[in-house]
Amino acid sequence: MRKLTLRKNEERRLLAGHQWIFSNELAEIPKDIPAGEVVSLYSHSKKFLGVGFFNPRSLIAFRLLSRSEEDVSREFFEARFRAALELRKKIYPDKKTNAFRLVHAESDHLSGLIVDKFDSVLSVQTFSAGMERLLPEICEALQTIFSPSAIVIRNESELRALEGLERYKRLERGALEGKVEICDDDLFYLVDAMNGHKTGFFLDQRENRKKIRALAQNADALDVFASDGGFALNACKAGARSVLAIDSSEDALARAVANAERNGFRQLETLKADAFEALEALAKEGRRFDLVTLDPPSLTKSKKNVPTALQAYRKLNRLALSLVKPGGFLATSSCSHHVDEAEFFNVVQRASLDAKREIALLEKSSQAPDHPILLSMPETKYLKFGLFAVR
Ligand code: SAH
Repeated sequence: MRKLTLRKNEERRLLAGHQWIFSNELAEIPKDIPAGEVVSLYSHSKKFLGVGFFNPRSLIAFRLLSRSEEDVSREFFEARFRAALELRKKIYPDKKTNAFRLVHAESDHLSGLIVDKFDSVLSVQTFSAGMERLLPEICEALQTIFSPSAIVIRNESELRALEGLERYKRLERGALEGKVEICDDDLFYLVDAMNGHKTGFFLDQRENRKKIRALAQNADALDVFASDGGFALNACKAGARSVLAIDSSEDALARAVANAERNGFRQLETLKADAFEALEALAKEGRRFDLVTLDPPSLTKSKKNVPTALQAYRKLNRLALSLVKPGGFLATSSCSHHVDEAEFFNVVQRASLDAKREIALLEKSSQAPDHPILLSMPETKYLKFGLFAVR
């Protein structure tokens, strides 16, 4: 195994629990090591630190996989997957769900790998050159543990470019006909693992969706950026009088409608539109709602665009708040990695002043526990969620 050496004192972040080394922290970048090769890492004073992936083309030059001298083989992945599975079984012990995020990258000591399990179908994403190279071993290990009916690779993220990786999707193993049905407590969702957004379905909001239920009883609810209807369906389940789901994707709304039918809900209406335009139009029409949920896609993929993203969050939350009846509620989210919680809530507060509403925070939270967060690695946290009473 090739060896990399750090510059003096650059091991501090790693020793504090982080898993990345940036290119400027290495003593040298050997250009002859191919992207994604497993290497060992040493401090300036020649102390062994661990093994991980090297990528000479990425700003994240080294991704730690193990702090001991392990072979990164099929067996390595099997052991990591079994540990990840044990945690999810503890988090979701009863058989009320057949879907969870099995692997949340660094949080499961697998830098650059995401695996979601939708009943018997596994959906895989790789974000590091190393995980891309080892996809055959990864799929072998998944096959051994789960005997899945299908494994799909959903490598369409633009973030892959940062590691020099192409974008593609494919059915890697097994057969996949149409959708796979998952349940989350008392709701059913039909997941299109091959064509749905990201891995096929957003599991990260699963707990937050349930938090709106008490407030959705007899409500006129508006779900903005509804996708497959996660929040909208929970509002229906809670007995909302009417639910309007807005999304710019016709396919996503078709899935939301199919999900409503599957659960026997009749209140759901959909509107294919740009959210900003639709919110303005609804305000002009004088429409008001008891509950508005906002769940936009990531509004910035980079640090430098954070100010623009914050402006967009401010506008969205202002528009949404202006549609809430006095005594109503707003559930607002941000999944932008680069916007931190304090910044996000600050912007929501400013939006409330813009909209001339007082808002009271009832609850804030983050991603579901099958997406664990390492406090030593802020990058593993991305979702911010706030539930507000609107006066
Ligand atoms: N709330 C959903 C997840 C939303 S993901 C859930 O609980 O599962 C973000 C959604 O925003 C995607 O479905 C995407 O199609 C939609 N979207 C992106 N840009 C949009 C825009 N400008 N207007 C409306 N919808 C948009």
